[in-house]
Amino acid sequence: MPESNRRFILRSRPEGRITSETFELVEDAIPEIKVGEALVRTLWISLDPANRGWLNDTPSYVPPVGIGEVMRGGALGRVVASQNDAYREGQLVMGLLGWQEWAVASDAAPLLPLVEVPGVSVGAYLGVLGINGLTAWVGLKDIGRPQPGETVVVSAAAGAVGSVAAQIATIGGARVVGIAGGREKCALLTERLGLDAAVDRKASDWHDQLVAATSDGIDVDFENVGGEIMDAVFARLNLRARVVLCGLISAYNDPVPPPGPRAFANLLIQRVRLQGFIVFDHLDRMGEAVAELSGWMGEGKLEQLETVVEGFEQLPTAINMLFDGTNIGKLVLRVAD
Ligand code: NDP
Repeated sequence: MPESNRRFILRSRPEGRITSETFELVEDAIPEIKVGEALVRTLWISLDPANRGWLNDTPSYVPPVGIGEVMRGGALGRVVASQNDAYREGQLVMGLLGWQEWAVASDAAPLLPLVEVPGVSVGAYLGVLGINGLTAWVGLKDIGRPQPGETVVVSAAAGAVGSVAAQIATIGGARVVGIAGGREKCALLTERLGLDAAVDRKASDWHDQLVAATSDGIDVDFENVGGEIMDAVFARLNLRARVVLCGLISAYNDPVPPPGPRAFANLLIQRVRLQGFIVFDHLDRMGEAVAELSGWMGEGKLEQLETVVEGFEQLPTAINMLFDGTNIGKLVLRVAD
């Protein structure tokens, strides 16, 4: 166990990608807990595209991380000492522990105790059985609502949210087309996850691939990336299609927002329903989602894909894997076992 607390502090707001200038690694004493608090050892840190957005000093659904503050981040840890009845020593907890090796839980900064399911990897609690799983589940159940036989397109389909959304749509009997970067990821989508077709966004003929894979048009767009791919998908939306506006990662590093989609008028013509959503508004559904998702995992219908990076000091470089597309499934960083 480390005898100090290494933490990544925000030093300067990035203009584009996160660089070595963005954070400073500082070393502090392990926090001493008071009555009402619990000391938590960080074990796994979740790397999320939202981390990049939290660094911008612009209005959003949460305030930006302040200069000099520890980087905000979802993580999973174990309680090592407790002076709060809500937490007991040895318990696994999940929440916004931040990019630090030790964190303090309290009633003002609560963490969610986890029920460990035998045979489930710890990383799954940050992926399929965590926020990403809930995002995919709520987005499809409440907004996309695909019917059997309808065509569902999922962008970033080999990623954390996308791979779960694509599998849930497949389980429900939809025809599912995944968009991903590279042949290897596309093969994984069709051969391992059982999608009906995959479109390689990095191939020069990606648009032709999309047209061929969606010859009956698109009924549900589970949108994770935005930009020109979303524009091409919008142009193919069917009458009364639904757009689950989950994320727009293609522009997260752009200092200036991209111009709007050209095929926007098709939303009007086709009477499309588009709804943006933020998973944190749906945390009360976590139990229901986890019950269904873990049931599918137990039946072998739903798989957790994950990419694990080792070592706390790798955080500022590992986060950029999400923007390079070098992660497959949930990107997590293992701090300790
Ligand atoms: P992923 O695991 O999907 O990783 C991101 C993936 O996005 C990359 O692997 C890459 O996949 C793709 N990508 C990166 N840059 C670009 C680009 N310029 N153009 C097209 N594709 C790109 O991340 P998550 O599953 O964690 O998140 C997916 C999306 O869901 C994000 O937009 C995120 O913000 C959003 N989200 C929204 C939530 C909500 O509450 N609304 C909650 C959680 C996530 P590839 O190269 O294979 O295309």
